[in-house]
Amino acid sequence: MLYSQVIPERCIACGLCQLKAPDLFDYDQEGIAFFKPDHNQGTTLIEDPKERIAFKTAYTACPTGAIVRQSTPFSS
Ligand code: SF4
Repeated sequence: MLYSQVIPERCIACGLCQLKAPDLFDYDQEGIAFFKPDHNQGTTLIEDPKERIAFKTAYTACPTGAIVRQSTPFSS
């Protein structure tokens, strides 16, 4: 099980995650990334194998550790 969120305070708007996983990450008007499938709620399972690979690439590329992951849904 794989769930994700972006911690906006850590994001430096570098653009890498959207480049690596365009279906999983997008940006707000200030360029701060968010987890696209559920608007950063962290409750939508990343299930598709290709998306899981894309996620890991983005997760690894993020220079600030802004992308977080866990095996259970995030709670708001
Ligand atoms: S890779 Fe990390 S720092 Fe860069 S835009 Fe994405 S979340 Fe923000």
